[in-house]
Amino acid sequence: MKHVFSLALATLLLAGCTAAPADSSESSTVVTAETAAAQAFTGNGEPLRLLQHGDEKQYYTQESLDDSSTMILYHVVDLQSGEDTIPCDVEGCTHDSESCPAVTTQIPSYQPFVLNDSTLLVLSGMNHSTRSSFITLMDRNCQNRRVLKKLEGVDLFLDPNHMYTDGDFLYCCGYEKNTALGSTLYTIYRIDLSDGTTTNLTEHFYNFQYMMGAVGRDLVLQQENLTYPDTFGNPMTTVPSHPTGTKSQVLLNVDTGEVRDFCSYSSDDYVLDRLYFYVIGGQYYWIDSTAGTLSTVGPATGESRLLTDQLPITEPDALSAEYQYQMEANLNGWLVFYDLPLLVNAETGEVRQRADLPENLWNGYGHQPQIFLQLKDRLLVDCRYESYTRTDISDDGSPYTTQTEQMYLGLISIDDFLNGVPNYTEVCKGPY
Ligand SMILES: [Zn+2]
Repeated sequence: MKHVFSLALATLLLAGCTAAPADSSESSTVVTAETAAAQAFTGNGEPLRLLQHGDEKQYYTQESLDDSSTMILYHVVDLQSGEDTIPCDVEGCTHDSESCPAVTTQIPSYQPFVLNDSTLLVLSGMNHSTRSSFITLMDRNCQNRRVLKKLEGVDLFLDPNHMYTDGDFLYCCGYEKNTALGSTLYTIYRIDLSDGTTTNLTEHFYNFQYMMGAVGRDLVLQQENLTYPDTFGNPMTTVPSHPTGTKSQVLLNVDTGEVRDFCSYSSDDYVLDRLYFYVIGGQYYWIDSTAGTLSTVGPATGESRLLTDQLPITEPDALSAEYQYQMEANLNGWLVFYDLPLLVNAETGEVRQRADLPENLWNGYGHQPQIFLQLKDRLLVDCRYESYTRTDISDDGSPYTTQTEQMYLGLISIDDFLNGVPNYTEVCKGPY
C-alpha cells in the first residue's frame, strides 16, 4: 500500500518528537539493519521453538465460567491416560468461584503454553481499554502463579500463536495503538524468563510487516510494499486486478538484532496476491499457486529450491485460494495442507495422494481434522462435533439461544492421520 506507506511516514515525521522514540524519525519505517537495535549478545545457540499448549504429557485448555467471561477455569488433559482434570485439590469445591485454585480472573487470557517440564506460560490482559499485557508463569499444576512481565499499553494478543523460546528467553510481538501517530506500532521483544528483563529487538515498525516464523535463531519477518488498484476487492468489478510492488522477507537475528534480506518477490515476476509463504518446523516454503509450485529457501544460501510443480494450479484471476494451500505441518517428513488432497515430501519433493479422514462437519461446513498439538508420534486434532443449544445474553440483557456445535479433541497417531484411519482417542472439549 504505497500511499498508506507514505501517509504513515508523513504522519510520523509530523509527530516527530512528541510520541515517537528519538530514532524512529528516520526516513525508513521498515526494519533494517540501521533501525534494528544492534546489540552484542551471545544467546545459548538453541534453535527457536514455537510454544504449544501441551507436550507429550499434558494438554492445557480452559473454559469460560460465565456469560460475561470474568472467570476462566483451567483444564489439564493427561495425554497418556486421556483423563481431563481440573487442577484443584480443594475438597468439595464446585470450581465456579475465585476461591478455586483452578480459576483465574486475569482475563482475557489465552490457553496456557508449555514452557518446559516444570513451567507454563500464560498471556493475559488487564482489559481491552488499557491494552496492557501480562506474561505470567505458573507450575504445571496451574498453581504458584507469578507475573514475569507487565507490558504497559502493549497488546500481545494480535498473534499469540507466534511465541518462541530458546529455553532462556521468550520472543514475541506486541502492538500499541499510537493515537498521536494514528498508527499501530509493533515491537518484537526478547524477555528473560528468569527475571523478566525485556529488550526491544526492533524499534517500532508498522502493520504491513509481521512475524511469520523462526528459522534457527532468526525470526522471519514479512514486509510488503504494495499498491492496490482501486478495483481491488470490489466484487462488482469485472476487470481482474492485483497489487503491484514487492513482498519480501527479512531475517532478524535474535542475538545481534542484525537484519538480513532473505527473499523478495516483485509484481514484475509474480502475481503477488497468489503467492503464499509459510515457515514450518524451522524451514521456509513458498507457493506460487498460479504455477502450482512449492519451493524452499535455505537461510544460509538464500537460494530457492523447487520441491515440486505438481500442486493444483489456481488461475490468477480466480478467487484467492490461500486457505486451500495453507501449510499445516511437517509430519514424518511429509508436508500437509489445509485442503489439498496431497502430501509433499519435504526433502525430495515427491508428491503422493493424501488419504482423507472422515470430514468434520461444523455448522454445515465440512473440513478435515485440524492439528491442535503436534507430538512426536501423535497429534491432537478436532475429531468430533456435537450439536447443542447455547444461551447468550444480548446487549439489552435478554437471553437468546443459538444452535451450534461443540468441538471435541482427540489423539490420533501420525501414521493413522496420514493414512486416513479415524482411530481417535477422544480426550476433551475443544477450546471453542
Ligand atoms: Zn476447585
